[in-house]
Amino acid sequence: MSSTETSNQSERQSLWPNYSPPADLVFSHGKGSELFTESGEAYLDFLSGIAVTSFGHAHPHLVKVLDEQAHKLWHISNLFRIPGAERLARRLTEHSFADQVFFANSGTEAIEAGLKAIRGYQLATGHPERFRIIGFTESFHGRTLAALAAAGNENHTRGFIPTDYGFDQAAWGDLESLREQITPQTAGIILEPVQGEGGIRPASTEFLQAVRQLCDEQGLLLMYDEVQCGIGRSGKLFAHQHSAIAPDIMALAKGLGGGFPVGACLTSVAVGQTMGVGSHGSTFGGNPLAMAVGNGVMDLLLEPGLLDEVHSKGESLRRKLEGLIERFPEQLDSVHGRGLMIGLKCKTNNVELMAALRQNQLLVGTAGGNMLRLLPPLNISQTDIDRGVDILAATVAEIAAA
Ligand SMILES: *Cc1c(COP(=O)(O)O)cnc(C)c1O
Repeated sequence: MSSTETSNQSERQSLWPNYSPPADLVFSHGKGSELFTESGEAYLDFLSGIAVTSFGHAHPHLVKVLDEQAHKLWHISNLFRIPGAERLARRLTEHSFADQVFFANSGTEAIEAGLKAIRGYQLATGHPERFRIIGFTESFHGRTLAALAAAGNENHTRGFIPTDYGFDQAAWGDLESLREQITPQTAGIILEPVQGEGGIRPASTEFLQAVRQLCDEQGLLLMYDEVQCGIGRSGKLFAHQHSAIAPDIMALAKGLGGGFPVGACLTSVAVGQTMGVGSHGSTFGGNPLAMAVGNGVMDLLLEPGLLDEVHSKGESLRRKLEGLIERFPEQLDSVHGRGLMIGLKCKTNNVELMAALRQNQLLVGTAGGNMLRLLPPLNISQTDIDRGVDILAATVAEIAAA
């Protein structure tokens, strides 16, 4: 073992052991849809750092806006106006149901802000008794305490959260189960329009419609978690726009910074106005560096035709995956998702297939329900889609032959 390898081993132990041991791969740089190791080996990236690097690695426009801002001003705090934040907020609201935005630094912080806003709104509108929030099974909303409680996944909450933290759970997609959870103390409902970690499962238009109606009838707020499925990933700017059922609150993060940490909580003016001075805040949230990159991502997202391309590339990838399922019916089951947020349900073990793909230099993720999770960059080329599918075909063939 060389001395650098030895020091790398012990340096690793300086980190918390909270993540399952990462693949022993160190990337030194990336370009577009590819990542490169120090020794120059290229890996095709169908994971995008879990739906974050939506325009690939080192996109020239994003490098330019980051570099320009880096030479001017990084951070100033929210004690001063930040024109980049005002501009990004305006652009997000112009293209959504929302009127106002709070900027954070991550998905879970955007969620936390929204959950507080649900309670803040009920309190401010004369309903202090309404504080409970309903989430759905198999959801994922992040790792801070309220986000954990909202998702209610016992593997994540056990030992960290008191039995009753003011959250209730309904079964995903089950309207009866949702009705049963609603009480006079219910303040709002949170859901992912396309469940990510839980298994790439889109909510049906009928379900969203029924949930919206329940909220309107009972004075509840509806919050969407579009941390993963938003920002063009589904082929629309926001995934719920496939069904045109608007929420009152929406959390964004992942793709919004293209790799720079940015989170955002979008609300209607009725909700936003109840979050007065002192109700919430963040030291870093919306700082000039993050906002420059966020605006850079919006420049790319709003380019005419980009979202149509995400849609058509998603369709093309799905068709090719359907073809693979026909070829390998013992190994592969079905295709799920929207746009370039795709789940390939496996019959063999998804984690083993992911590892085998990595051996063959294709990076993918996994999700619940024995899914392989494909999240290529939104601007991936057709050539790279074809290359990815070829690697998948060859790898599944290897497994089938073994
Ligand atoms: C990733 C994710 C989060 C949490 O985001 P972090 O930036 O890791 O805090 C929340 N909700 C969904 C749907 C996610 O995919």
